[in-house]
Amino acid sequence: MKKAILGWSGGIDSTYNLWYLINETDYLIQAHHVLLALNKNQRWRAELYACERIKEYIKNNVSAKRQKDITFTHSKYVSHCTTVDQDIVMFTLAQMALVSDHDCFAVYSITKDDVERAMTERGYYPWVGSKIFKIATRNGDFVWGNRFKKHEIEPQVRFMIKHLYKKEVIKLLPKELLDLTWSCREPIIKSEEEFVECGKCRACIEKQEVIK
Ligand SMILES: [Zn+2]
Repeated sequence: MKKAILGWSGGIDSTYNLWYLINETDYLIQAHHVLLALNKNQRWRAELYACERIKEYIKNNVSAKRQKDITFTHSKYVSHCTTVDQDIVMFTLAQMALVSDHDCFAVYSITKDDVERAMTERGYYPWVGSKIFKIATRNGDFVWGNRFKKHEIEPQVRFMIKHLYKKEVIKLLPKELLDLTWSCREPIIKSEEEFVECGKCRACIEKQEVIK
């Protein structure tokens, strides 16, 4: 059986991708959350909280049979250097693919808005990170330990929702589930369980534009 290893942040896009994988496919699913504990903000705390609540939602809203196919894992990346989030996630997904006991592919969630924005702002497709995935999966030495499995089919990255606009993604997500996601980049932390959206970052603005 093939496994889909999803880079899952607890945000709208990757949560929809998770919901889609659960309901519309029969793949085994590993939802891997990379906690990006970078010094620039505390966004990872809000994301972690969102992921925990979404897991609970899935526990209550997905059949017990299907739940057996889903695993949740996470790793934490702590660094003081400035780097691109996507690169870290891609590299991590490559590690997960290398140690997977099943033939697998990775899933990275970008929407049609991301594709169009990248093309107009930067002039290139946003999935350049897939190069990192390719390099890392072809160099198994990156994996410490000896669980490296030679896959018959080389793992690939798939961008399963790149044909959907965020507006469509939001419509397709159950409202309750949408409300559990976290997208804001600069959360205001009130307590361990209370986070307020900044309303000013790109993710907040995008969400406001799409929802109105
Ligand atoms: Zn924000």
